[in-house]
Amino acid sequence: MYTINENYQKLPGSYLFSTIAKKVAAYTESNPQKPLIRLGIGDVTLPIAPAVIQAMHKAVDEMAEASTFRGYAPDLGYAFLRAAIVENDYKQRGCQISEDEIFVSDGAKSDSGNIQELFSQDCRIAVTDPVYPVYVDSNVMAGRCGVYDSASQTWSKVIYMPCTRENGFVPEFPKETPDIIYLCIPNNPTGTTIPKTKLQKWVDYANAKGAVIIYDAAYEAYITQEDVAHSIYECKDADSCAIEIRSFSKNAGFTGVRLGFTVVPKALKCGGVSLNAMWTRRHGTKYNGAPYMIQRAGEAVYSKEGKAQLKEQVGYYMKNASVIKEGLTKAGYEVYGGVNAPYIWLKTPGSMSSWEFFDYLLEQANVVGTPGSGFGPSGEGYFRLTAFGSYESTVEALGRIEVL
Ligand SMILES: *Cc1c(COP(=O)(O)O)cnc(C)c1O
Repeated sequence: MYTINENYQKLPGSYLFSTIAKKVAAYTESNPQKPLIRLGIGDVTLPIAPAVIQAMHKAVDEMAEASTFRGYAPDLGYAFLRAAIVENDYKQRGCQISEDEIFVSDGAKSDSGNIQELFSQDCRIAVTDPVYPVYVDSNVMAGRCGVYDSASQTWSKVIYMPCTRENGFVPEFPKETPDIIYLCIPNNPTGTTIPKTKLQKWVDYANAKGAVIIYDAAYEAYITQEDVAHSIYECKDADSCAIEIRSFSKNAGFTGVRLGFTVVPKALKCGGVSLNAMWTRRHGTKYNGAPYMIQRAGEAVYSKEGKAQLKEQVGYYMKNASVIKEGLTKAGYEVYGGVNAPYIWLKTPGSMSSWEFFDYLLEQANVVGTPGSGFGPSGEGYFRLTAFGSYESTVEALGRIEVL
């Protein structure tokens, strides 16, 4: 008789988005005349840029001709895409990353969930609190997190690094030494960043402790400030301690298209064993490559037209972010993020909990956001609004909040 991976049974239910959906449905049912504005979503809304669509169409047509048809893609991605990534994301930023260190995939969620299988089960992970839930849950599934305490909402073997207004949302080195450190910068959910000088200190720390950093840079395209690194490889010696995960979802609207990549430098070694070789083996065994049409679409993201069109899209969302930031500030809220990320993280007024503020905003302004406590215990007392809505609805939502 078979048995199951009992670790799955340890996962607490993910009540966050289902509870939001239930509350919203109940409110809409009893107040059908009040139009809601949803600023809770972490998904893009603008259509894919014309240059990208054109490249995708062309690639589809190629698949219809015997002479240009392509079967299985190379495991690690087509050379045309990996070359474009190396040139634009790394070489132009002074990072020495080569094509055989790039692993094209179907997205950053899969990669950030899968990457943990390179490490032994007794490795201790450290995460920021609040956190993107995938990092913790994927390690729970692998049996690396110990037992869950529902009162404190923490796992016994996970090292938590609180990121709050008290420390400026910059994680401090933990008391216990971690083996695997997850960093997401610019951050989801807080929308905050850390300066490159601080990131360098994390790189130095990881190298000194023999730890590995899993660096999620899904929001890199939203960085506007000079002192924020676009890649962890802008830091000295990061290639011997860091894996970087990137996505085409937030910069190019690929959430439904699916494309991302992970960088595993050849200098990253554990006792002489190359993690690059391990991840190559993993891709070869478990992955048959991202679709040709999608990789051509990804290539177009780096074309001259593609870059210009995407800069406009990111600019559109960032204009929403400043509408939210300025509106909330004017209304007297304490606001973070929204400068290098499409997320605004606000402190709930007084002693209001995250969920109390959710209800207040839903009932009084008919605006839907996300309670900060859903991302971890240190998210309690905070609330996330996203800039992914339309400009008109964002302006309308802030108008409603300002007159409360
Ligand atoms: C949206 C998001 C991603 C992107 O995931 P994809 O699978 O590429 O769509 C990755 N990490 C974080 C923190 C995100 O918010």
